Amino acid sequence: MGRKTVAVVGVGAMGSMAMWQLAKRGFDVTGFDRMGVPHDTSAHGAESRIFRMAYREGAHYIPILRRSLDLWTELQAASDRKFHYPIGCLYIAEAKAQWLTDTIQGAAENDVRHEVLDEQALRRRFPQHRLHGGEFALLDTDGALLRPELAVRAAVKAALAAGATLLQGCPVDRVTPGPGGVEIVADGRAQMFDAAVVTCGAWGARMVDAPSPKIIARRLVGTWFGVGDTAPFMPERFPVCIRQTGHIDYSGFPCMDGWTVKIMPPINYLSDVDPSQVDRTVTRSDTEIVRRVVRDLLEGVDPEPVRSGVYLDGFTTDRAPIIDYHPESDRIVLAIGFSGHGFKMSAGVGATVADIIENGQDNYIRHHFSAQRVFADAA
Ligand SMILES: Cc1cc2nc3c(=O)[nH]c(=O)nc-3n(C[C@H](O)[C@H](O)[C@H](O)COP(=O)(O)OP(=O)(O)OC[C@H]3O[C@@H](n4cnc5c(N)ncnc54)[C@H](O)[C@@H]3O)c2cc1C
Repeated sequence: MGRKTVAVVGVGAMGSMAMWQLAKRGFDVTGFDRMGVPHDTSAHGAESRIFRMAYREGAHYIPILRRSLDLWTELQAASDRKFHYPIGCLYIAEAKAQWLTDTIQGAAENDVRHEVLDEQALRRRFPQHRLHGGEFALLDTDGALLRPELAVRAAVKAALAAGATLLQGCPVDRVTPGPGGVEIVADGRAQMFDAAVVTCGAWGARMVDAPSPKIIARRLVGTWFGVGDTAPFMPERFPVCIRQTGHIDYSGFPCMDGWTVKIMPPINYLSDVDPSQVDRTVTRSDTEIVRRVVRDLLEGVDPEPVRSGVYLDGFTTDRAPIIDYHPESDRIVLAIGFSGHGFKMSAGVGATVADIIENGQDNYIRHHFSAQRVFADAA
């Protein structure tokens, strides 16, 4: 008997980590991507990502985040490029904001390492943030900045070193389950595998061949702004941040290129798109909200953008991912729908996917990230 063969369809954040974990466990892995790996046009572009452990989306993410942090540390130690900057994540809110009070309580209940800062401490330690009075903050000390393209590259390099094969510029047209295996048609050629993993991000709805209105592709615009004095915005002084005020919220990233910071708009500024026809032109209205952030909420940042880019991610309507078998076949594992917050957990997702292929689905993952909730009542 030869080794079990596994196709990984889409080698972005989730696919690269799944390849690494599967190859490490001795599976015969082939990764397919429609583009080069990594690349800058889907969900792992835009140069920086927030890792945070204090998770306002729910404490049920914490086990996968802890596993991810261990794997980021392991992958970083094996990599020739730095992609994990453990600089903390700062959450800032207006006085008594319930969402931050709940996040702090969740951090305390789940033994997440953190500090709570009152307005005075916040002004003293992080003067880059313009305050309007009464704000408070949570510093998640396990928080970090990840460089997504370099992390994907590191995982793929580790997978290749463990014997995996990577087919770049090779779009998969069909993934068809059968009794003896899964047929993958790519670039006009059909190949059989024992199992397949579908990790094609914004293209997920198309590839699962079980359409659901609850899986959507969305367009995200990242924008970079110049800073006069870079020193206060370097990673060691400016942790990644999430700030929510009454009228505006954003996430912010330190200066990694020697002259800019990156600002991401809130999730309600995203538009639904057909991923094969997305408009990559950035208009003035695309950047309006983040220009307002810079004007009203930051000190020492020039409010005219110097660079913007359009990226895509796959969303579900409840913003929780699917990490589960395909509704029609347990030879196919889906890891899609990461809804604008998946990068930080991608290392843990790769390991979870490998667990499912190796040992079957576990109850905790099935309960929280089931395919059923998205496909059950699809037309
Ligand atoms: C601008 C931006 C900022 C973000 N900020 C954060 C953050 O701070 N923290 C965080 O945790 N998350 C963040 N996210 C979300 C996170 O990056 C995504 O949820 C995550 O990267 C999704 O990974 P993925 O593997 O599903 O998709 P991708 O990384 O896009 O990978 C999918 C891959 O599939 C390939 N593919 C698609 N169709 C096919 C096909 N038919 N054949 C072969 N290959 C195919 C694509 O080319 C792509 O490489 C952000 C997302 C964006 C876009």
